[in-house]
Amino acid sequence: MSAAPARGEGTEASTRGEEMHALIRELYPLCRSLTGDGVRETLRVLGRFVPLEVHEVPSGTPVFDWTVPREWNLREAWIATRDGRRVIDARDSNLHVVSYSTPLRRRVPLAELRAHLHSLPDRPDWIPYRTSYYQESWGFCVSERQLASLTEPEYEVCIDATLAPGSLCYGEWLLRGRSPREILISVHVCHPSLCNDNLSGLAVSALLARALREREGEREYGVRFLWVPGTIGSITWLARNAERAGRIAHGLTLVCLGDRSPFTYKRTLRGDAEVDRAAALALRESGFAHALIDYFPFGYDERQYNSPGFRLPVGSLMRARHGRFPEYHTSADDLDFVAPRPLEESLEVVSALLDVLDGNRVYRSTSPCGEPQLGRRGLYRALGGEPDVAELELAMLWTLTLADGAHSLLDVAERSGLRFAQLQRAAGLLRAHGLLEPCAPAENENGRVGCASC
Ligand code: ZN
Repeated sequence: MSAAPARGEGTEASTRGEEMHALIRELYPLCRSLTGDGVRETLRVLGRFVPLEVHEVPSGTPVFDWTVPREWNLREAWIATRDGRRVIDARDSNLHVVSYSTPLRRRVPLAELRAHLHSLPDRPDWIPYRTSYYQESWGFCVSERQLASLTEPEYEVCIDATLAPGSLCYGEWLLRGRSPREILISVHVCHPSLCNDNLSGLAVSALLARALREREGEREYGVRFLWVPGTIGSITWLARNAERAGRIAHGLTLVCLGDRSPFTYKRTLRGDAEVDRAAALALRESGFAHALIDYFPFGYDERQYNSPGFRLPVGSLMRARHGRFPEYHTSADDLDFVAPRPLEESLEVVSALLDVLDGNRVYRSTSPCGEPQLGRRGLYRALGGEPDVAELELAMLWTLTLADGAHSLLDVAERSGLRFAQLQRAAGLLRAHGLLEPCAPAENENGRVGCASC
């Protein structure tokens, strides 16, 4: 854990934080699920930020060990008394209906109905979020108080939904870099009215993508954004892009980035991949409180990317850890649970993390025998007037010390404790004076191409 942040205090939320919160408010009412028009509409909104491509994959398409499911669309769902008074209505909260519930319209005795109702006894006012994607059933999620109010012997139950052949859709956008190698940003897009998980990830990724697009052509790595329904979406992308997956050198899933907790970075399966080290450095430099945790095989789509057939080094950046905060997967993960400032901080950290990955280089000194004479070149004790000149000199000395073709700027940052941006600046000065030459980009140890099991 690092110290509490010095910045990020105060009450004024930034413009970008406000913009992300506004985007979350816009997306909040949409009834997203694994498939269906709620996801399409969400992707259409994200299309305002970057010209993403929307892929439609037909139901029944085999994707590795899975099959693209039928498409689910909900028109309405309610429980009414016999005299027509609606006591539960999905118009009040789309969490009220279990996602992928099969269509139903009939009178149901209370005892039978109760077997299809989900509530949270410990949180009497909250509605849980439940899904039944891969098992045909129906159900409603209600608060404990609503459950207690159901006392009539039978109710009229309506789930006006279609569960039929259609397609699964996901969004994809690639910012091209100078190199064919890519950084993957993957965000799940399947949760309905839940803000931290997962609208915060959508909002941060949307503004990140737009900011990168504004600086198109400046980056070494391409950055590939995937907005996919959880699990089946990333599996579908991998199944359709087994070759392309080999270009992914580093990756991140973004989830739970809008709450007020310290940051959590979940490492890749490897645990020491470049993205793991870049995340640790970016968080250290941010000054924000954070924890680094090891990989575990549940969570979000990092599970698919790290699977044995791909072994892509994909970590996960979050604030509160999914499943570990009481509001998780309940109606309390609402618009008040996420705030502009934490969203802004999250965007800042992800941007810095990408900048470290993109700027990491391996150099070789052109004058490796003893120190080169920096003073003669005006690089030492000659740079006046800048408050950080001593740090810049130190950065040059550290960069030269490790300029042996075997250490990267990330190594230098870890070893020296100096800021990555300062080391980049130092390396730029040394290069301008002919004292450093870049080595070919160090091959990522994830050098395999494609899917080993295909
Ligand atoms: Zn979730």
